[in-house]
Amino acid sequence: MRPVLLVVDMLEDFVRGELGDEKFERIVPPLQKLIKKARENDVPVFYCNDAHKEDDPEIEVWGPHAMKGSEGAEVIEELEPQGPEEIVEKNCYGCFEGTDLEKKLEKTYNGEGADTAIIMGLHTHLCDRHTAYGAFARGYNIIFVEDATDAFTKDQHEKGLKYAKENYNAEIKNTEQIIQEITSQK
Ligand code: ZN
Repeated sequence: MRPVLLVVDMLEDFVRGELGDEKFERIVPPLQKLIKKARENDVPVFYCNDAHKEDDPEIEVWGPHAMKGSEGAEVIEELEPQGPEEIVEKNCYGCFEGTDLEKKLEKTYNGEGADTAIIMGLHTHLCDRHTAYGAFARGYNIIFVEDATDAFTKDQHEKGLKYAKENYNAEIKNTEQIIQEITSQK
């Protein structure tokens, strides 16, 4: 397995700002653990971040959020990206469309490229799901981390996982299982 972590929209506005919810705090510790273990085991980490412009179609649906260059569009400080090469800015739900994520993934593992997208962050039924679609369409294996993803409601979260499983053949795993896999393959 040549996995990568895709950390979706763990931004100020989504966790603590415009569209935030206290309950999202519970996925922060698992994400910290996953990112730490990934780094220790040379598993690449990419942050898929909204960086909106005023005329993005989503703004009409959700109102202004995660506007490019604003504080709300920054990754929450606990999850500390290590550099700009880990950041992929997107202007709609999915992280593959109109971004350089695919190119970045192809360069991982000394040019062999990743084969498995481990999806985490917000929201299960929305940006996680659309990012999973992009990964699926490009032939990646997909894993959703059930305790490191979340949505506005429990129902949306569960439906998001179910959709990914049924339509993208995604495996649903928890943080401990992922950590075991990435540490045992080294
Ligand atoms: Zn957005």
